[in-house]
Amino acid sequence: MTNKIIKTLVLDNSVRLYFTDNTKVLQEIMNVSKIKDETCYLALAKAVSVISLLSVTLKANQRISAVITLTNKKYKIHADTDAAGNVRGYANQALLKEYQHRHANASLQELIGTKASIRLMKGFDMNQFTGITDMPYQNIDDDFAYYFKQSEQTDTIIQTNIEYNSEGCLIKSYGIYAQALPGAKEGALELVQKQFEAENLVPLLLRMNDAEIEKELNERFYHSKVMERKSIRFACHCSKAMFYGFLYSLPAEELQKAVGANTSIDTTCHICGRDYVFSPSEIQTILQSR
Ligand SMILES: [Zn+2]
Repeated sequence: MTNKIIKTLVLDNSVRLYFTDNTKVLQEIMNVSKIKDETCYLALAKAVSVISLLSVTLKANQRISAVITLTNKKYKIHADTDAAGNVRGYANQALLKEYQHRHANASLQELIGTKASIRLMKGFDMNQFTGITDMPYQNIDDDFAYYFKQSEQTDTIIQTNIEYNSEGCLIKSYGIYAQALPGAKEGALELVQKQFEAENLVPLLLRMNDAEIEKELNERFYHSKVMERKSIRFACHCSKAMFYGFLYSLPAEELQKAVGANTSIDTTCHICGRDYVFSPSEIQTILQSR
């Protein structure tokens, strides 16, 4: 399932404004994640939502991947995307194990803590750029904006909104990303931020065609232009071949046992939930090639 990101220029080409309703993409990712704790759930959802917005800043075969390391360094949240709009995200095994059943009883601020960091890798193939910043705002949105200020010297605002039903399931997710371009007037970004905070604009804009969006934006930010609509979707790059390595790492006795009992071995990708089944004859091949 896909969602759209709309790229616009507002305030006379001085601010880049991107917005999305990424509910479907987030729902798919969060269904796979199996996180029970609301705060961990929110942290992952926000990280994925921010990353999905960043996908439209990429060109050709560029990728961007983010790792949030919480103050408790064992716990990490991963999210990545590419220029084609493929988005994925997951909590690492330590975080999952800790909060799959138990509740953290913490706010987002407490979960992130005062010593968390964001590491962002951007690039393609061997041409990688990595930047690391701390998370002084402890709320993910402003911390990513802080990252861009620190590492790329660009003024950015990011707002993500996640809504739940009474069962704690995600029912709505949307967000904006705005960046000041050279020549932007003092306070331009703050004006955009205030308008989007004051009104629930994103769901409204997403239902409109380009001309209607421009009209709506022009009422708030003069001279606005819709540049492009891009799709985003949840996609994992896993394949059965990647799980052969896992089978190779199992003790030979375990593989022997499965072959002897004529049973298959099931493996599951914890990022997308896809199952890969290895038949006894495939296990036999692995045994013989060890
Ligand atoms: Zn996968």
